[in-house]
Amino acid sequence: MLPTLVDIGLNLSHDSFDHDRDHVVAAAMAAGVRHMVITGSTLASSRAAIDLARTAPERYRATAGIHPHHAHEFHAEDLPALRALLQEPEVGAAGECGLDFFRNFSPHADQERSFRLQLELAVELGKPVFLHQRDAHDAFMAILRDYRPRLVAGVAHCFTGDERELRDYLDLDLSVGITGWICDERRGHHLRELVRLIPADRLMVETDAPYLLPRDLTPKPQSRRNEPKYLPHVLETVAVCRGESPETTARATTRNALKFFEFEK
Ligand SMILES: [Zn+2]
Repeated sequence: MLPTLVDIGLNLSHDSFDHDRDHVVAAAMAAGVRHMVITGSTLASSRAAIDLARTAPERYRATAGIHPHHAHEFHAEDLPALRALLQEPEVGAAGECGLDFFRNFSPHADQERSFRLQLELAVELGKPVFLHQRDAHDAFMAILRDYRPRLVAGVAHCFTGDERELRDYLDLDLSVGITGWICDERRGHHLRELVRLIPADRLMVETDAPYLLPRDLTPKPQSRRNEPKYLPHVLETVAVCRGESPETTARATTRNALKFFEFEK
């Protein structure tokens, strides 16, 4: 049996879990995923994440923030509402926040403004940041470099980038979250090499459920919905790629996540 795991990115307030959320959590716990960080991506979903976290604070943390997809809905006048959410005791990090120039659901200028506002808040409140970046590395780094000296910590969640991006993150002393993307033999192949470059004290694992169902699960689940119970599968893939035992990877990633998200206060 593996040491217990922490899923650092789980969209547990997503409506695809509305009909069986308790069952999903019980299955995750039975699989050894004993701690979960519930991602907030709008003011409303951050509120929902906090409310869920409050039902079992020893098991959950929430993040509170505005995903770049929703940046066009977030303005300076919304800051007091987000600040209040970030001050709730269940909140372990600010985010998810960052830039996504792949989908471009919000204009770049809105994304950059929203990202800066949230980094300011994280600095002000002394919160670590839960970061999202896709196809926006240079713009993301330019902003993050301004704030990094004043930020307590940050994790590049769902890392899918290349070696240059990874080295830039590590140079900024960020942590890195790996999802089941690494289990995708087409899109995730490069990650199998890169994951070795991540120091043991900078590595965390996540499912990003209900998204990113690992493509190589056997037997293939009936549903395309990802669940936190599949985190051990991601962890084992990461361990194989790093050339270490799953126990070693589990112990390190769990220790990192419990500290980062302030499960131990
Ligand atoms: Zn994300």
